Amino acid sequence: MALSFALVIDPAASDDLRTDFSDSFRVIDTAAPALSVGELSTQRGDGIFESIGVVDRHPQELIAHLDRLAHSAQLCALPVPNREQWRQAVFAAAEHCPARGEGVIKLILSRGIEHGPTPTAWVTAGAAPDNTRVREQGIRVVTLDRGYSIDTPARAPWLLLGAKTLSYAVNMAAIREAKQRGADDAIFVSSDGFVLEAPTATLVLKEDGRYVTPAPNGGILHGTTQLGLFEHLGSLGDETAYETIRAERLATAEAAWLLSSVRLAVPIVAIDDVELPVDHELTASFNRFLLSPRA
Ligand code: PLP
Repeated sequence: MALSFALVIDPAASDDLRTDFSDSFRVIDTAAPALSVGELSTQRGDGIFESIGVVDRHPQELIAHLDRLAHSAQLCALPVPNREQWRQAVFAAAEHCPARGEGVIKLILSRGIEHGPTPTAWVTAGAAPDNTRVREQGIRVVTLDRGYSIDTPARAPWLLLGAKTLSYAVNMAAIREAKQRGADDAIFVSSDGFVLEAPTATLVLKEDGRYVTPAPNGGILHGTTQLGLFEHLGSLGDETAYETIRAERLATAEAAWLLSSVRLAVPIVAIDDVELPVDHELTASFNRFLLSPRA
């Protein structure tokens, strides 16, 4: 993503009731160095983030993204983000996304500099990559063992499995592995055989006319795109459900998608070389909805 804008935030306390936070923002040069070498985000990946899709300068699913940022902060014992401050930072950044078309805003909250006084926080904006082709043509995925069982998140909360942390090296390694196996992306499966999520997206299956997604019960992120789509499908009278899904169900799905804020709904054409039916018209209708302005 080519960055067109960045600002550093001086994080306010969560109960700071100011109505205007603009003097806590410092616009920085996207091409110039901005972080201290002591930053724990770069040294340890110790921080959290959100990637927000932007359409015609409108940030999508902002409420759900700010909710998840707060949830990740809580899991990581970071100070509770001041919601209004981050909201204003997002709108300041949105002004620098393409006036027509898709953009991306990233929110980053790091633990800061080792022994430093505060966390470090910043927001970036830029144009989104063109995902038109992948939304139309779909992707091949492989299942990959995530290496923990479905009950691990409850037994070991220090693994931070439900937090959107900056430590995405494992997620990126999984995508490389998928590519080495001739696919485009991966679906993580727990060591006891349950479907989890993709390295950067939520899985949704269509089975017998209803839509199901793995329950976000600590081990995976609750996707904002899936949340928005399920609300939309519910309003159309479609049935949606969160379930614990055994991996064997993948092969018999009527259709399947990976959903995420920037790529949106991408149809899965094959899982582990088993071809899956693709409903192009339905996928196009999902993406029309996802590209419409959403709170
Ligand atoms: N799961 C993981 C691991 C992700 O990284 C993402 C998005 O980045 C998602 C799911 C989908 O979340 P969202 O729809 O909010 O982008």
